[in-house]
Amino acid sequence: MYANVIIDISHEKVDKPFQYKVPDKLTGKIDIGSPVVIPFGRGNTTRKGFVIELTDEPNWDPAKIKEIIDVSDEVVSAQDISMRLAAWMKRHYGSTMIAALRTVLPAAKKQNRQVHKYISLRMDLRQARDLYNECVRKKQKARERLLKELLENPEDRIPYEFVTGKLNIASQTIKALSDQGIIKVESEEYYRKPVAAESSRYGKAVLSDEQQHIVDTVKKDYDEGQRNTYLIHGITGSGKTEVYIALIDDVIKRGKQAIVLIPEIALTYQTLMRFYRHFGDRVSVMNSTLSPGEKFDQMERARTGDIDIIIGPRSALFTPFPNTGIIIIDEEHESAYKSETMPKYHARETAIELSKLLPDGAAVVLGSATPSLESYYRAQTGEYKLFELNRRLTGGTLPTVEIADLREELRKGNRSIFSLRLQELIEDRLSRGEQTMLFINRRGLAGFVSCRSCGHVFKCPHCDVALSEHRGGRLVCHYCGYEEPVKKICPKCSSKYVSSFRAGTQQIEDEVKKFWPQAKVLRMDADTTRAKGSYEKILSAFANKEADVLVGTQMIVKGHDFPDVTLVGILAADMSLYASDYRASERTFQLLTQAAGRAGRGDKKGNVIIQSYQPDHYSIIAASKQDYKEFYDEEIAYRDLLSYPPVSHMMSVQIMSKDEEEGMAFATKLRTLMEQRKLEGSVFIGPAAASIGRINDIYRMAVYVKMSDYQGLIYYKDLMEKYIRSLEDQGKLRYISVQFDFDPVNGF
Ligand code: ADP
Ligand code: ZN
Ligand code: ZN
Repeated sequence: MYANVIIDISHEKVDKPFQYKVPDKLTGKIDIGSPVVIPFGRGNTTRKGFVIELTDEPNWDPAKIKEIIDVSDEVVSAQDISMRLAAWMKRHYGSTMIAALRTVLPAAKKQNRQVHKYISLRMDLRQARDLYNECVRKKQKARERLLKELLENPEDRIPYEFVTGKLNIASQTIKALSDQGIIKVESEEYYRKPVAAESSRYGKAVLSDEQQHIVDTVKKDYDEGQRNTYLIHGITGSGKTEVYIALIDDVIKRGKQAIVLIPEIALTYQTLMRFYRHFGDRVSVMNSTLSPGEKFDQMERARTGDIDIIIGPRSALFTPFPNTGIIIIDEEHESAYKSETMPKYHARETAIELSKLLPDGAAVVLGSATPSLESYYRAQTGEYKLFELNRRLTGGTLPTVEIADLREELRKGNRSIFSLRLQELIEDRLSRGEQTMLFINRRGLAGFVSCRSCGHVFKCPHCDVALSEHRGGRLVCHYCGYEEPVKKICPKCSSKYVSSFRAGTQQIEDEVKKFWPQAKVLRMDADTTRAKGSYEKILSAFANKEADVLVGTQMIVKGHDFPDVTLVGILAADMSLYASDYRASERTFQLLTQAAGRAGRGDKKGNVIIQSYQPDHYSIIAASKQDYKEFYDEEIAYRDLLSYPPVSHMMSVQIMSKDEEEGMAFATKLRTLMEQRKLEGSVFIGPAAASIGRINDIYRMAVYVKMSDYQGLIYYKDLMEKYIRSLEDQGKLRYISVQFDFDPVNGF
């Protein structure tokens, strides 16, 4: 047995391992991720390394391969923790160790530190004044300007840029003066800081009893040595962020650090400022708009203790703090917490694993107005501790929500995108100068087909997900591959209004302008936000009341608060309901609840209209009542019935192939491989074409495995990985690649 070992643990060097022999006495004691002691280099100095691969195949002459000296078990450094976390991710989600390490280690290349230079006088004032007079006499204008400035501010250091810029003095002149001992040029290194902190610390809010209860419970558990996961279920404005701040305060008092994850899209200036106002210079932010230098510096600041708190998206989880004490995941239901590249990890599970690996452990706090089924389920089973915050502290009353039945509208002869009730309310808001948001739910796949007269949706008889329209007049199930021809007549009501739904933001904008030519409309979608900064520009224009109506996709439901929005219209509430995956109802409920929550943030009462062809669907009814529990109970029953996560676990084996037939054959082969070693209680589905069946001429298909035991899925994954690897080694798998996705969140 041979072990590939890396010694230099940096992002760039992980793919340059050295090979060692595993001596008999260490067999069984060494695993991927193990720290080992090895002889290194010509002098065979002992070094510490980490095993990233185990193999039977020597890379060269086995006689020349050195032996591992020992394995060291203690977890001491941040590197040990990163290594173990990467090994866990590799095993838990399926990927190479190198890909896992790349994910876990901060990506930024070493960057030079920034320096500020300052200029000050090196002689006493009397000498300087004499020199100045001499310069005036000799008409040495540049020297005169600089000495004048220095004499006027004898206590200050003058920034170098000011001297070369405003005073317009050449750098040669500065150098000459410095060489003559007249002035002194000092350099000071500093960290790049992405946001200028406001130093004014604001008074802490006096927490409500409910808020205080959460903080007390978490503190008490911590004191007793328990490191738990907590779920705070609380509507927007119920005071979750204030609780986070109090919890972080406590952790910092204990000399530890805090990681706060926020979905990138919700990482607004307003949110950041809340933390900055409270923690000043001790907090920093990571996000995709930072330069490599800024990113590098934030990681350095975390490592060296220059900050205590980092705020950022998924990847901020891997901030190298010396002693993380709490990990907070806000809006924990967001699909952005799941990585879409290998390893396809979920930040929530990875945070919990990380907290176990930390020498002193960390508390994990999840927060959401609409928790993921996963988290709420685990809170129900007692795995997480649940807290509920039910009051909105910002004032403002919850909006009145009405459902408009689009089947009824058709019967009344209304063929427009707007129901009569929505038209009436838009009219009213325009006349009163209040604002309206029109949200089109485009989350689903445009391919689903329904009857516009009765709302009937064509579904797979085996999987209970919507069928998608494919070319050639076929309806296809993306889970099991079931197919049927497209029908022209609705099998339920015999109407001929059977079609796939196609309406975009552009059409809605046009329609608003047609109905109300005087209305000023802003539109926000993928097209209008392509340019950098355009997203913020549109939102602030709307906040400044430069428009009456904002039309948009899911982008408009997050972030900013608009106190003057008193009407929200949700135009195609069904759209996401028929996306062909098992999370369709959950996503619909979350979107509708969030969108509805946009109305009535200010003092004025708000209205929400949910337009739907399926007004009786539980996710729509529960969203209209803003009743999470009602939704959860229905949804968990469905997941239970069909063995979907979180009640069971599911692995999607994703195959990508240049050739469709070859890909399908290989997918079938993988299924057979698993069936030959079938474990009790597992169910195989597929292969079937993926919901996006082809991208860039690469065909995509999937095999699904459901099983309540996660370890069983890992067993199958390992089986396939080994098989795939052996084919790759023989050069037989050149046009096919395979990825694994455990408990998938994003459609494939
Ligand atoms: P969430 O994170 O759940 O949306 P926030 O923590 O942002 O809620 O709280 C909503 C608003 O209520 C904020 O303006 C916040 O400053 C205020 N707030 C929160 N807790 C309190 C409190 N205990 N007393 C007074 N105001 C509070
Ligand atoms: Zn019908
Ligand atoms: Zn099916």
